[in-house]
Amino acid sequence: MARGKKSAPKAARAKQKKVTKKTAPKRVAKKAPARKASAKSAARPVKYVYSFGGGRADGNAKQKNLLGGKGANLAEMASLGLPVPPGFSISTELCTYYYDHGRRYPEILDNQVRRAVAKVEKIMGKKFGDADNPLLVSVRSGARVSMPGMMDTVLNLGMNDTTIKGLAKASGNERFAWDSYRRFVQMYGDVVLGMKPEDKTQSDPFEGLIEAKKEARGIENDLDLTTDDLRELVAEFKSMVKKSTGKTFPEDPWEQLWGAVGAVFGSWMNDRAITYRRLYDIPADWGTAVNVQAMVFGNLGDDCATGVAFTRDPGNGEKAFYGEFLINAQGEDVVAGTRTPQKATLVASRIVAKASGMTEAKRKKLAPSLEELMPKAYRELRKIASTLEKHYRDMQDIEFTIERDRLFMLQTRNGKRTAASALKIACDMVKEKLIDTNTAVRRVEPAALDALLHPQVDPKAAKDVLAKGLPASPGAAAGEIVFNADDAAEAGKEGRKTILVRVETSPEDIHGMHAAEGILTARGGATSHAAVVGRGMGKPCVVGCAALRIDYKAETMRVGDRVLRAGDSITLDGATGEIFVGLVPTVDPELSGDFGKLMKWADKIRTMKVRANADTPHDAAVAREFGAEGIGLCRTEHMFFDGDRIDAVREMILADDESGRRKALAKILPMQKKDFIGIFKAMEGLPVTVRLLDPPLHEFLPHTDKEITDLAHKIGVKPKLLREKRDSLHELNPMLGHRGCRLGVTFPEIYEIQVRAIMEATCELSRKKVKVIPEIMIPLVGVDKELERLRGLAIEVAEAVKKEYRARVSYSVGTMIEVPRAAITADEVAEHADFYSFGTNDLTQMTMGLSRDDAGKFLPYYVETGILGTDPFVSLDQTGVGFLVEHAVRKAREVKKGLKCGICGEHGGDPSSVIFCHKVGLDYVSCSPFRIPIARLAAAHAALGA
Ligand code: ADP
Ligand code: MG
Ligand code: MG
Repeated sequence: MARGKKSAPKAARAKQKKVTKKTAPKRVAKKAPARKASAKSAARPVKYVYSFGGGRADGNAKQKNLLGGKGANLAEMASLGLPVPPGFSISTELCTYYYDHGRRYPEILDNQVRRAVAKVEKIMGKKFGDADNPLLVSVRSGARVSMPGMMDTVLNLGMNDTTIKGLAKASGNERFAWDSYRRFVQMYGDVVLGMKPEDKTQSDPFEGLIEAKKEARGIENDLDLTTDDLRELVAEFKSMVKKSTGKTFPEDPWEQLWGAVGAVFGSWMNDRAITYRRLYDIPADWGTAVNVQAMVFGNLGDDCATGVAFTRDPGNGEKAFYGEFLINAQGEDVVAGTRTPQKATLVASRIVAKASGMTEAKRKKLAPSLEELMPKAYRELRKIASTLEKHYRDMQDIEFTIERDRLFMLQTRNGKRTAASALKIACDMVKEKLIDTNTAVRRVEPAALDALLHPQVDPKAAKDVLAKGLPASPGAAAGEIVFNADDAAEAGKEGRKTILVRVETSPEDIHGMHAAEGILTARGGATSHAAVVGRGMGKPCVVGCAALRIDYKAETMRVGDRVLRAGDSITLDGATGEIFVGLVPTVDPELSGDFGKLMKWADKIRTMKVRANADTPHDAAVAREFGAEGIGLCRTEHMFFDGDRIDAVREMILADDESGRRKALAKILPMQKKDFIGIFKAMEGLPVTVRLLDPPLHEFLPHTDKEITDLAHKIGVKPKLLREKRDSLHELNPMLGHRGCRLGVTFPEIYEIQVRAIMEATCELSRKKVKVIPEIMIPLVGVDKELERLRGLAIEVAEAVKKEYRARVSYSVGTMIEVPRAAITADEVAEHADFYSFGTNDLTQMTMGLSRDDAGKFLPYYVETGILGTDPFVSLDQTGVGFLVEHAVRKAREVKKGLKCGICGEHGGDPSSVIFCHKVGLDYVSCSPFRIPIARLAAAHAALGA
């Protein structure tokens, strides 16, 4: 990364030079400063040009950094003896040189390129620029990683008014020759000379001339253009080029070649490429390679074709060859979409025909397969596909062209695939002994698993899209609309499925969010309450759907002029953010089979444990199913909201003195105990970290005046009194206010009761031979004295309970590290802790001085404009917040060797954060239940050295 940064200013300088000089890149710098550089290496000139073809190659597949992905694989295929048209790659080092030397080439390049062209000429038996039998080439860009924004390929380079005659004669097909010429002038004009439409409303200037020609001739199809039409078009194209660029279209093939090479290197610094590199963290000094390759022709007649293929189905991973092709066509036609490609295999061809209601006779006539049309070339293609797959030990995405029944390979690379097919292919390849289990684990992206863990909208179902919001929590959910949490809970009891639709959600809605199948909000971003809670529960959730107008009173929601009412059905796709009208069928995830297999392999590899953040017995059970090895964070405040207990909680808050609080707490104790018993049972034999009360007390009080009046009546106090209490608890900055251990310090009886509930649950279960491993966690410690005091309290209570029960159970008391000061003084704090758990949500907020609840207004902009690489609440800020984590672990373990350390923020389920946790030596990560498989796989990747 540092290298990339270093070269960026240089590149910028080079760019400026280009702008002021306004000249085409210099071909060869005869007396340029470059001379000095090349003179230094005169003894052994740097090799910039790597040839391939004729059964051998200078380079190989391992040299992607030097030759680019395309060039390295072309070299490898050539060495394997596959039919690759000969050619050469100009290395990425030259690209770097070019930008380091004011857009000039080293002197030796000219000679190296000429020698490489001569080699190609020899293999092809043709000559570049020859009047009788001309060699034509393609010029193709290729960086280490495939990069949109780079120059498009130029085909048929070497065509001019002389070589056209040779090509026509040699091919015996005059129309083909003019068609190739026409394509060349068009592509070169567009790609190298920059003759593009000026804005989106304009059409391509060359296409405009073709359309005019067709109109004048009264024809519709390109294929109906005659040789004369094409000849005229070439002339018209050229004069248009002259008119708009002021320069004559280059006739000299060498000038064409250097022009195209310069355009490839130039495209490395165009705006599109720069933006792409910034988004994907690609250093500018990687550079691109240029590939020059002898043309083979798929457009010579009906015994010619061009196409693309995958060695396995990229959609579902089946071990089935999958290809598409066009007869009598060249390269880009397949992707251009102007003609519909046909299927390569007979099976696929029949499936497609059947789906469109085509009879077999019609299919044979209109859309036959390659298998039927060119059986020999097809058989060879299949053979090569399987050779390539065995060689690369991965699914390949290949490009080919057939010239007069002869097959040529033009590209191969590891194929892109969906999450489901990545999983299937990895497992199948282990079965086929192509790869080992470590490789299989590496092949599946942890983040991609998310899509596999939830029900999906049936891709085959018909859909009526109502609107689109932000995808906040993946999965599909369908149900009837409800507009408040109580209705959702009510419906849930009756077994009815609902979608909870709110402007936004708040902690009071939790019970409804639990009961609903999915959550939809009109406001909020990816870190809004609905989004965070939705993800935590594994509930499909779409937020921030701005088009949505919700009327709570009328119980309607409106999008444009479509109105839906409470009780109407909708379906959410939390992975895309789409909202559909009606119940769209969904398909369930498959957690056994290949998925289970891969997870087992991952578990064997990883060294870090994975726990869950879970607050209820149900979540704990789900977490265990997903492979949780304990609970890393059990928040007790959620238990305070449930049902009637909120009343007891409010009574406690409203009490004037300790005895009043104790009275209310006595009511809460049995309820909390019951909760703990449920959770401990679900996690039998595994550790459960329980966090004592964390949020400020006012969060439990009603907010609106009506709610206050209702509550006042219910508990028999004056509304005025209640309002006063609410106002007295009001804080200007609750995040930094009276919360966490500060509550425990000022109202020790609250923590006392909580510890008692934990220990009584533990002792009672121990009598029933249920093994419980409770870990009592004190939140928001910033000063060691806080922990010292509260740990003392916890131990006192715990020992008392043990005595009462005469139980021999063990427990531990630790703290959450979430205040920067605690991280900085981690050695002092560690004296009083049995374990550390990094609460990276708060630690991020406080380290960055960034309120998670308010950041929605500017954080997305920060990420968009690159001020921040990623949202620090999603992916741990490793340099800043991560520095504190690393420091704290090291400091703490200096005084307490092997102190157990984990992480329980949202980051525990983020793959790159998990890898970071592994690196700094954490014992476990803890995340929401549905992210556990992702964390397990990411931890395995970390152990494999990802
Ligand atoms: P991309 O990176 O966009 O795939 P390519 O460099 O692979 O661009 O070129 C696009 C298409 O051009 C190829 O799929 C191939 O069909 C065609 N092509 C490239 N080089 C040649 C060649 N030497 N002979 C015939 N067709 C070619
Ligand atoms: Mg390609
Ligand atoms: Mg916290």
